[in-house]
Amino acid sequence: MATRVDHCVIRGGRVLDIRRHAAELADILVVGDTIREIGPPGLEAPAGAVVIEAADLLLLPGLVNAHTHGHGHLGKGSGDRWTLELLLNAGPALNSNRTLEDKYLACLLGGLDMIRSGTTACYDLFYEFPLPSFEGLEAAARGYRDAGLRVVLAPMVADHSFYEAIHGLLEALPAAQREMVERFRLAPAAETLSALEAIVSRWPFDASEAGLALAPTIPLHCSDDFLTACSSLARGASLGLHMHLAESKVQAVAGMRRYGRTLTAHIESLGVLGPHFTAAHAVWLDDDDISRLADHGASIAHNPGSNLRLGSGIAPARRMRERGLSVGIGTDGSQCSDNQNMFEATRLASFSSRIVSPDPECWLSTDEALTMATEGSARALGLGRHVGRIAPGLKADIVFLDLGNLNFVPFNDPTNQVVLTENGAAVDSVMIGGRIVLDRGRFTTFDVHRLRERVSERVAALREQNRDLAALTLGLEKVVSHFCVGLARSHYHVERFVPA
Ligand SMILES: [Zn+2]
Repeated sequence: MATRVDHCVIRGGRVLDIRRHAAELADILVVGDTIREIGPPGLEAPAGAVVIEAADLLLLPGLVNAHTHGHGHLGKGSGDRWTLELLLNAGPALNSNRTLEDKYLACLLGGLDMIRSGTTACYDLFYEFPLPSFEGLEAAARGYRDAGLRVVLAPMVADHSFYEAIHGLLEALPAAQREMVERFRLAPAAETLSALEAIVSRWPFDASEAGLALAPTIPLHCSDDFLTACSSLARGASLGLHMHLAESKVQAVAGMRRYGRTLTAHIESLGVLGPHFTAAHAVWLDDDDISRLADHGASIAHNPGSNLRLGSGIAPARRMRERGLSVGIGTDGSQCSDNQNMFEATRLASFSSRIVSPDPECWLSTDEALTMATEGSARALGLGRHVGRIAPGLKADIVFLDLGNLNFVPFNDPTNQVVLTENGAAVDSVMIGGRIVLDRGRFTTFDVHRLRERVSERVAALREQNRDLAALTLGLEKVVSHFCVGLARSHYHVERFVPA
């Protein structure tokens, strides 16, 4: 296959119709980065159009990862029995002292990892300590663009550290440790807000290729004034706003104690909800919370793999959809997920919907799950008019699956097999914006072997540099866990853990 095509026709492939569970033979004409026409085999193409042979390949819209973290791509396999709170406790040791090169390399690596497993776009909540920088975000965007992946990058910000966010936690730490976690204090709100303004005003990338959004990370980590300011900045610049919402029971309980109402009711009262708003995880929502988000036209980034890995609980994804809420699927970052494989995340969404009810009518069907991983996620990214479907007028973001791969032998039902069988092994080629970025299993954008060496060197250096932080946060694990598990054992009015 050609690596760059300005004008091409994809011939002989089977185009997946997710809802009909069908895959008819069809040709696709691509002009520039956009799908111009889809028609029966033999579709007329302009003279000089490059022909891409797709015989024996299943063509599906690129999967869209609705929630990940670029800084996390260097951390796969970190920790084991971590709750969300233990992951947040380990954050300084995992993410400190990153250079601009590290930020670039992490996103390049993560971008290639996602492409390899059939993802063509992601929503990335990118973290820099103690505050975001234009240079850091620009390096992250360049990493993804050099890989060839489409991205929406949201600087992840807060004005309270994790230790300040959970009421009573700081007081529970021994005096010496309390002093040490002072080092993790974030920049004052005003400084972070002016950094965000600078990033927004100077952002140099095309919004559909490397767009910008804002991510005030977690309600408890943001003062009301800070959150409201982030929200106005996002609205003023027509950007998305992405938050982790009621991810863990600890947050739900601590939120109720602090605000006297649910986290969702609280942020609704601050006026931050709207069609541009994406709530990540949203595990500990009650029915009123779901209705609030639906009424505001918001989106959910459902991250079933991360919710299982961190023991956060099972998010009521099917109920959200029944209430008219748009739901996408994400992997979450590699420090808690750990691969960036959207086929796996989609399968986990399907499976985890089944352990909460004996009635199969309440489960996610495979076509629902795959529609969530494509159209639902695209909407969360604010790119619903551009990606998520194979259709004329949309960007040519197409995954080519090898029907000779044993995952598809025999070929019974394309939608069921993509969700229930495929694990990324059948990904043959990937086109993003009309450009082939993975060609018959080989990246056309970057030499992965060269990348591996440099990433390994940098990760070893960072581990050395962050050694004392690792020792400090390891020393805090017991008391943090004890305090937070205590909170999680208290009563909350919905249950999202499934009894064994
Ligand atoms: Zn996250």
